[in-house]
Amino acid sequence: MPRPSTLDPLFRSLRSIKGVGPQLGALLNRFFSPGEGQDAIALDLLMHMPAGVIDRRRMDGVAGTFVGHTATLKLHIDRHEAPPRNMPTRPHRVFAHDETGEIQLVYFRAQGGWVEKLLPVGEDRYVSGEIGFFGGMKQITHPDYVIEVEKLATLPLVEPVYPLTQGLSSRALTKLIREVLGTLPELPEWIGEDRQAQFKWPSFHAAMTSVHVPAQPNDGELWGPARMRLAYDEYLAGQLALLIVRSTLVSARGIARTFTGEITARVETALPFALTEGQKHAVEDIRRDLAAPERMSRLLQGDVGAGKTVVALMAMAAMAESGAQSSLMSPTELLASQHFRTLKPLADAAGLGIALLTGKQPAAERRAILEGIASGATSIVVGTHALFQSGVEFHNLGLTVVDEQHRFGVHQRLALSEKGKYTDLLVMTATPIPRTLVLTHFGDMAVSVLREKPRGRQPIDTAVLSITEYPRVIQRLQARIAEGAQVFWVTPLVEESEVLDVVSAEDRFAALKTEFGDQVALVHGRMSAAAKQEVMDRFQRDEVKILVATTVIEVGVDVPNATIMIIEHAERFGLAQLHQLRGRVGRGTQRSACLLLFKEPLSETAKARLETIKSTEDGFEIAERDLDLRGQGDVLGTRQSGMPGYHLAVPDVHRHLLEWAHGDAQAALKDNPGLTGPRGEALRTLLYLFRKDLALPLIRAG
Ligand code: ADP
Ligand code: MG
Repeated sequence: MPRPSTLDPLFRSLRSIKGVGPQLGALLNRFFSPGEGQDAIALDLLMHMPAGVIDRRRMDGVAGTFVGHTATLKLHIDRHEAPPRNMPTRPHRVFAHDETGEIQLVYFRAQGGWVEKLLPVGEDRYVSGEIGFFGGMKQITHPDYVIEVEKLATLPLVEPVYPLTQGLSSRALTKLIREVLGTLPELPEWIGEDRQAQFKWPSFHAAMTSVHVPAQPNDGELWGPARMRLAYDEYLAGQLALLIVRSTLVSARGIARTFTGEITARVETALPFALTEGQKHAVEDIRRDLAAPERMSRLLQGDVGAGKTVVALMAMAAMAESGAQSSLMSPTELLASQHFRTLKPLADAAGLGIALLTGKQPAAERRAILEGIASGATSIVVGTHALFQSGVEFHNLGLTVVDEQHRFGVHQRLALSEKGKYTDLLVMTATPIPRTLVLTHFGDMAVSVLREKPRGRQPIDTAVLSITEYPRVIQRLQARIAEGAQVFWVTPLVEESEVLDVVSAEDRFAALKTEFGDQVALVHGRMSAAAKQEVMDRFQRDEVKILVATTVIEVGVDVPNATIMIIEHAERFGLAQLHQLRGRVGRGTQRSACLLLFKEPLSETAKARLETIKSTEDGFEIAERDLDLRGQGDVLGTRQSGMPGYHLAVPDVHRHLLEWAHGDAQAALKDNPGLTGPRGEALRTLLYLFRKDLALPLIRAG
């Protein structure tokens, strides 16, 4: 179905709007940045929400005004006092009065006689602006409006104020937006009857009118019914689109798996520890999903060190019991081979075929691995994302496990679902994601959370110290290393430049070498996978005591004997990253420490970040705090991945509506998967309105 023609006026280029010339057009394009080669459209203006209102309704006469407040006065103009010719910086003053008192209207740089024309002596005018006080008298400097008496109706008594941009005044926007609003038709109602009966929200049209042309100052306030409705609409459109995309990806065409329980039992026996309650629950969740006829789409959230890998292994073992293969994908080859080494002995003990596939294996070895995968002899394939790009043929792939999801962009995620079209999906993330973000970014993925850490975990002592204390740090380190400790030393992030990251790592490496000699090793992102692996192996075998690293070690690396984490230039790292890095220690049975070295000057937010990390180890608390400090776009690195933000919804205020929109979208699609009939058409209109119509072709006919 093409876009409903009723919406056409909203999709025309802004340049076609009366009063938008080339200059203003260019300005608006810069402001709304519609993308390469495109013009901003009327809809952009409609969706541009005011930041507040100016209330001009106070009309109590000069005597009734308060300094600092905005008022509208009906004034009689008495006389003008232009600045003397030799003093052009003096203001032009207009003396006026009403029956309650006198006031001055003040204009700077008012040459050319336009003020005289605007405010003719002897006539009455409505004047609106902020009341000031100067030289013992009330005044208005540069009134916002001067209006002839019979044209009072054109004065916006409650005036919305729009966020400004260079060269684009709120007033100009107001005019354009009113113009666009005039072309907005009444649209069919897409909100379900139940929801409408519950809230009695205004229609979309009425809500937009309340916001852009408010009659009362609170008509458009964030928690008022108009903005609530619009926020809900935006969430609903987003959720609907996500669900449509997912329902086609996931579809009902999963396979209901049955399990013998044999292999999982052997894995459990082979584990050197008992599963935690959280791990057991997660495994149960997953088995229930796999046993259901729908495709699984589950997010396994667990703080760093929470023990997600074992859960993944149990899932993959269950899959093998049902006769299907699994793949485990990591963001880097380093992590892939680490996973492989962790899992191999357990898989061997359980009689599960496991293989590691990297981009750098010799041809013969690779061929043998590919054969194992194609024949089905290999049950578990560990690799990176490249696994799916290299045309690997599976015998019968049933489950894909993606580790450290937030490292994968949205595009990769889609590509991945494309490949494993009918496979179950388990996504593991160490970034604890608040519920709002789960809904926003993952749609209706089911979630399992590992909250408790495996037994025996020690709390981590975190300290924040200036780099000027370097000599003392070295002294302490010497003592700790003599006691057998191993140390991660992470060097700063340099402006997203990998090259400079490496430079700073090499500098630190050289400096530490003068103190610790061969006990120090270096690993960074520019080394070959093999070289990295070799260094990691030596660190793991305790031949290296201090591992200097760029953030390549950020995710997943597991060395239980490493008990000290030092992060240099900690002020340059984000909260999530600091938390992840700290999670590299505290994995064994010994007490661990994390040292955050900073360099002055510290910004307020950097200070707040370091304080947060020092004060808590609870990943969820840190994630919430991160949300506060950075705003929601950034937590998942979504800026880079091109996720659009919200225009109408303000998550801090409207968060709760997201849950409802989610449930309502789910119900709507369940009742009406083809989006047919009047309600279906209305929902399609909604998707066009919020430019989520890319999801529409995915709706299956019938
Ligand atoms: P993450 O969730 O960060 O991926 P891992 O799966 O790497 O965590 O587990 C971290 C460490 O905890 C590993 O050394 C693992 O062997 C250990 N571990 C996992 N589960 C348990 C458990 N139930 N009891 C004790 N140790 C566990
Ligand atoms: Mg892990």
